[in-house]
Parts: sequence; C-alpha cells; structure tokens
Amino acid sequence: QKFWNMSIDDFKHRGRRKMLVDLLRSKGIEDEKVLEAINIVPRHLFLDSAFAEYAYRDEAFPIAAGQTISHPFTVAFQTQLLDIQPNDKVLEIGTGSGFQTAVLVAIGAEVYTIERQKDLFDFSKIILKNINLEPRYQTYGDGYKGLPSFAPFDKIIVTAGAPDIPKDLLSQLNIGGIMVIPVGQQSQQMLVIIRLSEEQFEKYEFGNFKFVPMLESRDK
Ligand code: SAH
Repeated sequence: QKFWNMSIDDFKHRGRRKMLVDLLRSKGIEDEKVLEAINIVPRHLFLDSAFAEYAYRDEAFPIAAGQTISHPFTVAFQTQLLDIQPNDKVLEIGTGSGFQTAVLVAIGAEVYTIERQKDLFDFSKIILKNINLEPRYQTYGDGYKGLPSFAPFDKIIVTAGAPDIPKDLLSQLNIGGIMVIPVGQQSQQMLVIIRLSEEQFEKYEFGNFKFVPMLESRDK
C-alpha cells in the first residue's frame, strides 16, 4: 500500500465503512456483491470535506448545484434491484457525485452515465479517475434522451425522481433487461421495469423514496 493512498483512505475510513456495510445488511441488503462494493468505495471522497466525517452514516448530503448524494441504503437498494451480472451494459441517469457510478463499476458493470449539471459532471469525472473506478463513458447532457447511439442497455438506473417513465429510456432497454427508476412528484415509488419483448413490459413496486427531481433539458 502506497503512503499517499493511505492518506486518502485510512484505517479509520475503512473501519467506518465496514460498520456501514453491517448497518445496510441489518436494513435488508443481502446481495454480497453490492455489500462488497460499498465496502470498497471510499464515500468520504465524494462529499464536500465539511461532511467527510459523516460519510459513513446512512444519510444523504448536499453536493454541488443544489443536488444530493443519495443515502447509502438507497444506492445499495437500487443496485441490488438491478441484479448486475459481470459485464452488464448499464445506463445511469444522474451521475451526481459519482458514488453510485463507482459502486456499479466496482461490481463489474460497463457503465454509461449522464449528468445535466456541469459542475457535477466535472467533479465526478475527476474523483472516479482518481480512485480508478472509471465508467466506460461519461457525458454531460439530458438523461431523458438516454444514449441512443450506445443502446440497447442490459440495465438502466435513474437516480433522480422522474414524473413519469421516460419513453426514450424504455426503448433503449434490452429485451430481458431491467430498469430501476423512482417515479413520482413529491415522493417517489421505486419501480422495477422488466422488458419482456419489443412491446411488453412488466412493472413491480418497491416502496417509497425521496429524490431530487429529474429535470427537463435546458434547451426546451
Ligand atoms: N447517484 C447520485 C445521485 C445524485 S442526485 C449520487 O448519489 O451522488 C440526482 C442527480 O440527477 C443530480 O445530480 C441531478 O443533477 C441529476 N439529474 C436530474 N435530472 C437529470 C437529467 N434530465 N439528466 C441527467 N441528470 C439529471
């Protein structure tokens, strides 16, 4: 272990991370791949240093541009619902801090991620490179449109509250693919959508959550 590495992620952080993993397990997360990824990704580096001390509590915190880094439980829960298989091609809408992105990369997914706030796009790009958990493709733009040139995706995850299920995203899901998306205005219902065929989709509900809103593109 190199010294500079120790200084950015020391035994104190690792100890706290281990306790967070135990907490998530007690809250019902049981996918060991997900728990192992949470155990690896240094969440304190994704937060403003003012909050770094609290990084391993199961809490959401403000990040740049009035957005928030999701609760670790929410990240673990959404990731578990995605049922990631090695080399799954995953589209993520709402890179934010990049923490969820890092968890997906740590599990072995090939991640394509979109963020509409330039500050967050810039920040997350740097941190993901620094910790060597870079997604396959990272862009600044409107997640409602998805990434048609890279479609179809095995999995799609939306990390902002969507008023409805965006049609463009449904069309970019592989047959047999899974989309995890929180849908609603004030609070959101966590939905899992499975694409059965070209025309057929199945929908399951997984409880209430509270996300920052998925915003329409600026050029509309
Ligand atoms: N997983 C992230 C969540 C950040 S909050 C984390 O834990 O840090 C949700 C993010 O979605 C915000 O960064 C917000 O800017 C982004 N977002 C909202 N609407 C969007 C859209 N239409 N396209 C892309 N990103 C969007």
